[in-house]
This record gives sequence, structure tokens and C-alpha cells, in this order.
Amino acid sequence: MSNESAAIIVPTDISLMVREIKAAYTRYLREFRVPDDHIILVNFSAGKDSTTTATIAHHIFGDRVRSVMADTDNEHDLTIDFARNIHLQIGSNPVEVVKRIYTEAEFSKRRERVIAGWKTKQTIRLGAYRGVVMPSLDRSDTKFGQAWLKTAERWGIEFETALDAALSVLHPSGNSFLDAALLHGQFPQLRNRFCTDELKIQIVYDAVIKPLIDDGEVVVQWSGVRAQESTKRAAYKRFDKDNRDPDFLYNFLPIHQWTAADVFALHKYFGIKPNPLYLQGADRVGCMNCVLCNKQEIAETAARWPEYQERHKEWEQKVRLASRWVHWMSVGTFDQAWMRAMGVKRLGNEKQIYGLEPDIQHIEWSGFYGPRGGMGSPNVDEVVEWAKTGRGGKVYDLVKASLDTEVCSSRYGLCE
Ligand code: SF4
Repeated sequence: MSNESAAIIVPTDISLMVREIKAAYTRYLREFRVPDDHIILVNFSAGKDSTTTATIAHHIFGDRVRSVMADTDNEHDLTIDFARNIHLQIGSNPVEVVKRIYTEAEFSKRRERVIAGWKTKQTIRLGAYRGVVMPSLDRSDTKFGQAWLKTAERWGIEFETALDAALSVLHPSGNSFLDAALLHGQFPQLRNRFCTDELKIQIVYDAVIKPLIDDGEVVVQWSGVRAQESTKRAAYKRFDKDNRDPDFLYNFLPIHQWTAADVFALHKYFGIKPNPLYLQGADRVGCMNCVLCNKQEIAETAARWPEYQERHKEWEQKVRLASRWVHWMSVGTFDQAWMRAMGVKRLGNEKQIYGLEPDIQHIEWSGFYGPRGGMGSPNVDEVVEWAKTGRGGKVYDLVKASLDTEVCSSRYGLCE
């Protein structure tokens, strides 16, 4: 927010803008035939936009508004504190904080699948390794099994096989973000953002929305999505049916056309102090860090709150044990003897893998941040070191530009 843009917002603008929201909402309710006694549910993320949304909803509809936040277990402590206390500033009902808990039964199912799947050889169906037959991970008497024991030594773990190592971590850890990554065998990525889906969207639906709808209620979710944040967000309709239950569930984006300056002006108008992380220099709040966050944020978080870096490092060490690919590739690059010894072949033309050798990866980590800075599978420390360096070059900037739009693409405004 620039000082100039903040300066042109005067209190009367805000009250007019809030009145516009009320009038538009009334029109939408009529147009979509939403009953007057519907439930108003604010998706709260503890960021500036959802704080604004909760404040407006309460200003117009008072105590009939409910706000709900999904705690991913990868949040900054200050964010959770803010969510638990924001009602004191707004004068509203407290925010209901929900969390996806992964059960022992879910892990037990995953263990069964891993036991069955990892015992057998596996033919890779896609990508550079298509057609390559990968070895069983439950043998220590094979060339691969022997080579993997060196991996175990390097990692400082004592297991006979990769399968044993995986089974040791496939139990609820007490942290939902880590549990999700363990069950998926990897951290979330741009194209596989199971964190948002499972830890935010699905849990709010399961824990709050579905029980209301099952009781015959109609629910309108208010979200702090703003068009300015990305082209994807700009394309959302301000009011629409929600495909998950189109007759009972609707989405309303009250501040869709607002700027960031408007949002901070509203805070000022209502005397609301935003999440303190903004005052400490954060551009966005929420997961600390988001797996998709940019280079600058990685460097800033590492400098300000190194304890989160330590936590992610510990997670990486566990998640790599749950990844079949990391086990295979941890043995891959330096000595392909295990592959030759196994007679690893391509499907079809029986071609030996020798021709593939230059492409064989060597992976030690299921990296929290995914590939960065030209590194295929860096760990948190390597990413932080890279983030501390100057500009990452043109390639990085292109990646960053695409991330900036994708990170903010949730319709529900749950990932800032
Ligand atoms: S903020 Fe990032 S890490 Fe957190 S749930 Fe959203 S996409 Fe996942």
C-alpha cells in the first residue's frame, strides 16, 4: 500500500463501500432466491482481506455471522493467536478454528498399500524413466538393497530396508501438515496442492458446512477474494452457487473489487489492528511458510523466524522416508551398478538403461519447497541459502511470476 493511495481513502468512502456491499448482497439474495434466514459463514484466514470481510459481515448482520478458520498446523503462532482474539476487536462471535486430523486408521490403510506396492518391482509409466523397471524396496539381499544401506548410513538411520524405514514414519505425528505430506509421500506442489484442498477447503466443508446443510440450512460463504490479486481470482463471479451443493451453498465475494489500500483503510475506519505479521514485514500471512512462497519470503522468514526453518527440516527428514521415488533416486547417480546388476530394461525394445545414465537423478530429499534455483531436489537449508543470494535470474523471475498468480487462486480466499 502506498501512502498516496492510502491518503485518498477517507472514512466516508468506506462507509459508502460497505453500504454498497449490503445493497448488492440484498439484490443477490433476491436473484438467487436465498431464504432470509440463511447462515452467513465467513472464511477466515487471519489475513487482511478475511479480517475485512469478517468486520463488514458483522457490521451489517451482527451476531448471526459465523467465522471459521482452518488451522493447517503450518501457521505462524501469531496467526493462530490473532484468529483466536480477533472477535475482541470486531465485537463479533469468536472465530471457530477447525483442523483436519489424520487418524491411525488412515495411516494403517496407507501402510497396507505401501507394504503391498513397495514389495514388487515397478515399471515407470511416465516421464524420462518411462519403461524403466524399478527394484523392490523390501529386500536387503539385492544389489539395490545393499546400495540402499549406504543411503541409510548417510541419513543416520538404522533399517534393513527402505520399506522398513517408510513404515516407521507412517503413523500420526501430531501435526496435520506433516501427516498430509507423509500420507502423500511428498510435500504439496503447485500442481498438487493437497494442503489447500484437504487442510483448508475440505475440513471446513466437513466440519462446518455439511452438518448445516444436512440440517436443511442454506449457507452463504463470504470470502475476502479480491480481483486485484490474480487473473484467476478476477474471473470469479461476485455471487454464485457453489458446485458442491448448488441448491444450499453459495459464495459471496463482498470486497472483490476492493484494492489493498481500501482494505487497510477499512481496518483504520473500524479501528482494527491487522495481523501483527504485516507490521513485522510479511507481505502475506498464513502458512509459515507456504510451500509455494517466493524467494524473498523464504529469505525473510529464515532471518526472522529460524525456528520454522528448523521445523521444515525435521519434516523433510521424515517425508523422504515415505517417498518411494526418493529411496530409488537416493541410490541413483553415482553408481548405476545396482541397475545394471538387476538387468534394468526399457519396455518394448529391451534396451538396457545404460543410455539413460546421464539423466539419472540423485535425490536425497522430498524438499519442502520443491525445485528451486536450478536445483532438482534441494532441502530447506539449500533453498534458504539460495534465497539469501541476489536476484535469482530471469528463469527464477518467470517461475515466480507464475507462482504469484497461482498461489492466490483459491475461490475461497483461504491461501493468501
Ligand atoms: S498457504 Fe501454501 S502451504 Fe499453506 S495451505 Fe495454502 S498453498 Fe498450502
